[in-house]
Amino acid sequence: MGVIRQLDDALANKIAAGEVVERPASVVKELVENSIDAGATVIEVDLVEAGLESIRIIDNGSGIQEDDVLTAFSRHATSKIVDERDLFRIKSLGFRGEALPSIASVSHLTIRTSTGDAAGTLLKLEGGIVKQHDKTTSRRGTDIHVENLFFNTPARLKYVKTIHTELGTITDVMNRLALSHPEISFRVRHGERTLLQTNGQGDVRHVLASIYGLNVAKMMRYVEGSSLDFQVKGFVALPEICRASRNYVSTIVNGRYVKNSMINRAIQDGFHTLLPIGRYPIAHLHIEMDPSLVDVNVHPSKMEVRLSKEQELFAIISQSVKDVFRQETLIPSATAPH
Ligand code: ADP
Ligand code: MG
Repeated sequence: MGVIRQLDDALANKIAAGEVVERPASVVKELVENSIDAGATVIEVDLVEAGLESIRIIDNGSGIQEDDVLTAFSRHATSKIVDERDLFRIKSLGFRGEALPSIASVSHLTIRTSTGDAAGTLLKLEGGIVKQHDKTTSRRGTDIHVENLFFNTPARLKYVKTIHTELGTITDVMNRLALSHPEISFRVRHGERTLLQTNGQGDVRHVLASIYGLNVAKMMRYVEGSSLDFQVKGFVALPEICRASRNYVSTIVNGRYVKNSMINRAIQDGFHTLLPIGRYPIAHLHIEMDPSLVDVNVHPSKMEVRLSKEQELFAIISQSVKDVFRQETLIPSATAPH
């Protein structure tokens, strides 16, 4: 008799959750990205104990139709890609079909969702096992409530840092999502405290002001540059308000927040010698390119991406930042008399 067996779904999901759900901030990121993909224009996030006790996300997006709700909680189930070719032209934030089953497998999860034209669905799961499945009246959109995160993975729970640190990471994730989507109104609360509120009117400067305060926002300058392959737009702060950490650069590639060291170097190169050693810029760039030039399927968190034609992009970013400072006459232009 053989000894090799297929793992049951709940266990397989719990193992996969190790990759997707590292800490409360990963749950917030995955769920809010789902709301964005669902076309929501208003997204509310309510946290208790930095999400360890409870994370509730309410959106006014498309909702999930009744027939699909259970499927959405099975692994590799997604409405966002159909075949292999789609992998090379991904426009949505999600596509792996792993977040919902992974999160559900390590928490108590309740979802109420409705497409608005039929009764909504209520589904309750504990550790990935369905405990209740009912119809519910609900308006169009989705309300997901995740409680007791990591209740069945004590090692993961131990790894979670202090409430303060976890809240900082969540704030970071939410700030970047809000910057990527100024057209969406976000409200994030921790207990009674509002951590972030944006108006959803599409102006990145308003979002920058909500995050960094009005004074910093006023010191930020518009940057722009393009080539056949790339379009770069954004804001950089004047060097006098640089920071001691690299954390103040956010880059959005085709609507997805990414970390890419080449882009960071290009921005710094644009600052030339204007930044003191050990100081880093505050900057926010939106980069648009053909989806076939980006590989987002590098890591489950999809935050790392591989870019084609990196040198071309480096030059555009660096030049567009230099142009701003030339206008501010911080860098003497090549033709101007010295
Ligand atoms: P992925 O986002 O990679 O497709 P998920 O596990 O995050 O995988 O979600 C599975 C599916 O559930 C999505 O493809 C989508 O169809 C649906 N879904 C999840 N969250 C929402 C939401 N907030 N609103 C509408 N549909 C959703
Ligand atoms: Mg998703």
